[in-house]
Amino acid sequence: PVDGEKMVFQAEVNQLLQLMIHSLYSNQEIFLRELISNSSDACDKLRFESIENASLLESDPELRVVVSVDEEAGTVTVSDNGIGMNRDEVIANIGTIAKSGTKQFLESLSGDQKADAKLIGQFGVGFYSAFVVADSVVLVTRKAGENGDTGVRWESDASGGYTLSAVDKPVRGTEITLKLKEESKEFLNDYRLRGVIKKYSDHITFPIMMLGEVPPAPEPEEGEEAVVEEPQVAQLEQVNDASALWTRPKSTIKDEEYQNFYKQVCNDYEDALIWSHNKVEGNQEYTSLLYVPKKAPFDLYDGNHQRNGIKLFVQRVFIMDEAEKLMPRYLRFVRGLVDSNDLPLNVSREILQDNKTIDAIRNASIKRVLGMLEKLADKQPEDYAGFWTEFGACLKEAPGEDFANKEQVAKLYRFDTTNNDKVGELTSLDDYIARMKVGQDKLYYITADSYQAAKNSPHLEIFRDKGIEVLLMHDRVDEWMMSYLNEYDSKSFVSIAKGDLDLGSIEGVEQESDEVKAEKEKKAVDIAPTIERIKAVLGDTTSDVRASTRLTSSPACIVMGQHDMALHMQQLLKQAGH
Ligand code: ADP
Ligand code: MG
Repeated sequence: PVDGEKMVFQAEVNQLLQLMIHSLYSNQEIFLRELISNSSDACDKLRFESIENASLLESDPELRVVVSVDEEAGTVTVSDNGIGMNRDEVIANIGTIAKSGTKQFLESLSGDQKADAKLIGQFGVGFYSAFVVADSVVLVTRKAGENGDTGVRWESDASGGYTLSAVDKPVRGTEITLKLKEESKEFLNDYRLRGVIKKYSDHITFPIMMLGEVPPAPEPEEGEEAVVEEPQVAQLEQVNDASALWTRPKSTIKDEEYQNFYKQVCNDYEDALIWSHNKVEGNQEYTSLLYVPKKAPFDLYDGNHQRNGIKLFVQRVFIMDEAEKLMPRYLRFVRGLVDSNDLPLNVSREILQDNKTIDAIRNASIKRVLGMLEKLADKQPEDYAGFWTEFGACLKEAPGEDFANKEQVAKLYRFDTTNNDKVGELTSLDDYIARMKVGQDKLYYITADSYQAAKNSPHLEIFRDKGIEVLLMHDRVDEWMMSYLNEYDSKSFVSIAKGDLDLGSIEGVEQESDEVKAEKEKKAVDIAPTIERIKAVLGDTTSDVRASTRLTSSPACIVMGQHDMALHMQQLLKQAGH
């Protein structure tokens, strides 16, 4: 490698850097959380790899992070003895942004600093947050298991690029030194840094060390001559608590601790909405700590969302992020962790594919999440409404994905209804059922592209007339969802826009008398020539034209066949690649 080789940042890196420096100005201290979290990840990776290959630990098995200050030089340094990086990895990880969706994310920014700061927080600010407080950053790293002369030095002042050089680094791992900006000099203070570490990184499972006070030189005893001793040096001491929060008994953990843990581990800016912490003993032994966030990440619905998910630990050793086997797709917004005592430490994604232990944990975790949402809906309906706005569309994927739980998920659904006047005044299926007319045994609904379209549909006329409530579904996924959700509480769903309607058994809807029937038959004969003409005009575009009783004021409407797939849904399936 050429010494001092100059490299240019990817365009996205530059853009993100500038944005970050400006939007995170008021929340500078998070740089430390980000760097410590990277160090902790690097230690996790090494610990995991050393299970198979103990020699990677060299002669230094105590994984840790050290934070130090050099007041004179105006620098703060974060170093770890984790996995480290080789040259290619430095280029791939530090010079580029590999995360999918970065472009899209950048486009979603509004230019309003407050709003953008929130989004950036959600996106995960990462390594580059160092430049919020630093004019220049030097990163020196050497990969575990490789020679001491394979170190890499990366340096940048955030003005478009960085330089790379080869260096000696006898100790494995990564050391990052920040030359602080004039206005960020507050972080040259030991107490300030300790405070930030306690606040954000207390639960990091590796020790985070800082130098303690220099012990005073021992007083010379009376009558003795003062001996010139070695100068006293400060010892490293542990700053964080480092206990894995989830291993502690529930009753000893404060809400605030759960929230801090959430923010650190799940990388959210905001508090979680709710969580559920469970220790399971017996046949299976595991602990789960599952959180529901307040806000949906910006890319939750774009198909390649993959940033969160559940972390898998085995006997407190971190194994992997995003263990997608632990949660179905429709619960992909749930974050947190599962720590199993039964899985082997060298478990791989392949092993997880078809594993009874994982299946059992997954099933129980689904129940936990649904249970906690049910409770929220019950006890805090306003908070639940907020949840539904953010994540409702996710839950609507459940009937197609999780047959076993579809009834329980459907209990959580909320829809607009003809019973209310405004969009957003939602009802649950249980409430709909409670209002059903005597004799009504079907759940009536209509799907449309918008609330207005649903509410003004001519199909509703007869239902309005008879005072029968209809659910107004106007979400993109509703049509698709309803193709899987055939019934709820043993009552079948009926689209009022499909096939024939029979409202005869509902009280208040008169049975047709013989006279009415005769009248209808006569009308049908009368209208027959008109129908023939319409058929001739429409030709192959429609499968049938019929006289109907479902309209009371509109002259005609289009009806889907009982088994026709709505256009909308055909489009949706095409988009999904079917
Ligand atoms: P994230 O942590 O979300 O991946 P970051 O921007 O924080 O994003 O870090 C980018 C990448 O740089 C990490 O994924 C990792 O590969 C690498 N990295 C950063 N810090 C370290 C470190 N201390 N040791 C090893 N690798 C690191
Ligand atoms: Mg990171």
